Amino acid sequence: MNSVDSAISAVTDADIILIEEASALINRHWKRDQHGVAAAIRTADGSVFSGLHVGGRRINICGEQVTMGMALSAGHKEFDTCVAVIKTLADEEPAVTSPCGACREVLTWYAPGMRVLVRDGTDVRVMLARELLPAPYIPPWELRGDGFRP
Ligand SMILES: [Zn+2]
Repeated sequence: MNSVDSAISAVTDADIILIEEASALINRHWKRDQHGVAAAIRTADGSVFSGLHVGGRRINICGEQVTMGMALSAGHKEFDTCVAVIKTLADEEPAVTSPCGACREVLTWYAPGMRVLVRDGTDVRVMLARELLPAPYIPPWELRGDGFRP
């Protein structure tokens, strides 16, 4: 493994604190069909944001996107780590969950170098956001490099 190009690594003590932040939020606000996931993001300066997934049976805005929006709205542009936890029953402990496809695109777009905690079977590990979405969509104008955007 190339240690520069890949961040696949173990969970750190700081990551545990982020998991606890997201878990505390979903434990406070879990509600069936409204809030099932919470995310937490640590910015490069150490600020921590946490947000709930919002939605219902058909429409969902993921916790990662809500939290990224909160951090961006506060003016942050550099991100360190993201984690999401899921809770499906009122008496269940939250568990780390991997980002969905849409979140993988959003996280990669805003913070390709951000560490993201992912579930890998029974394990939790850390990857870079850009590693979550191999061969991502690149708009034609970016491929051309001519700056022309229709
Ligand atoms: Zn998502």
